[in-house]
Amino acid sequence: MSKLRESYDHIRKERERWLEGSLAKKYSIDQEKRYVHPFRMFGNVWYVGDSWVCVHLIDTGDGLLLIDCGNCGATAMLIQAIWEAGFNPKDVKWIVMSHGHLDHIGGALFFRRMFGTKLYLGEPDARDFRDNPELSLIQESGNLADELFEPDYEIKDGDRIRFGNTDIQFYLVPGHTSGCIAAFFDVTEGERTVRAGYFGGFGFNTMQKDFLQDIGDRDLKTREVFLNSLSKVRDQKVELFLGNHCGNNNVLERAERLRRGCAENPFLDDNAWIRFLDSKRDDMLKLISESTDLS
Ligand SMILES: [Zn+2]
Repeated sequence: MSKLRESYDHIRKERERWLEGSLAKKYSIDQEKRYVHPFRMFGNVWYVGDSWVCVHLIDTGDGLLLIDCGNCGATAMLIQAIWEAGFNPKDVKWIVMSHGHLDHIGGALFFRRMFGTKLYLGEPDARDFRDNPELSLIQESGNLADELFEPDYEIKDGDRIRFGNTDIQFYLVPGHTSGCIAAFFDVTEGERTVRAGYFGGFGFNTMQKDFLQDIGDRDLKTREVFLNSLSKVRDQKVELFLGNHCGNNNVLERAERLRRGCAENPFLDDNAWIRFLDSKRDDMLKLISESTDLS
């Protein structure tokens, strides 16, 4: 057998093993089926994500800002969405990452290498990239060429950063990862200015008992940390709730209503933020009480 054939067989066998894993299909296969035609949500905020993980584009008047940059392996879709929205991907000056998981950082290195885009990540997640890279789940991406990065800026609790015409107030909201960020900023359309709010990670996958104990959180303290993060930003005024994943604010259903045309923009909703944060608080309290019963 040739060395070439040996190498082929070896790598294909590895691929089969990877495909048998529970995460491979969800994260990596047939991503094109998740493509969503981009649309303007309100003012200078556009949706350029897919039907699973959100990406928001803000046209700051002095360059484009992305909040998140899609799943690993979905960068071509993101590029297509940016063009389709009427922008040029080379104008993306900054990417703010909601947290350092593989489904939110996919385009980061491509944009940096191709366009010199500056990368922003919460300080604790930047530390985990260095010390505990496995927490990023990058190993599940299905592409051995995928790698992590040193951000250009590590976001700290309370940072206020100006991107073009947009001033963003940041907070750290650990729980889903230790470096999730929350972000608040004004968005103007015509005469109307509203406050946008963003919470960078609600998933309980990283707060399950087995997961936490495996990474050394024996007492499941992370769950309390997550509850504190929710209450820390719960009372922010948010009229335009931007999701981290599509289900957070039913982005596709609201987009359909927007497309059909209605008197009030369906993304403007004074209650969506509190309603969703409170529902996550209740779900977490339930998870905590169920775990107590078991032990
Ligand atoms: Zn995540």
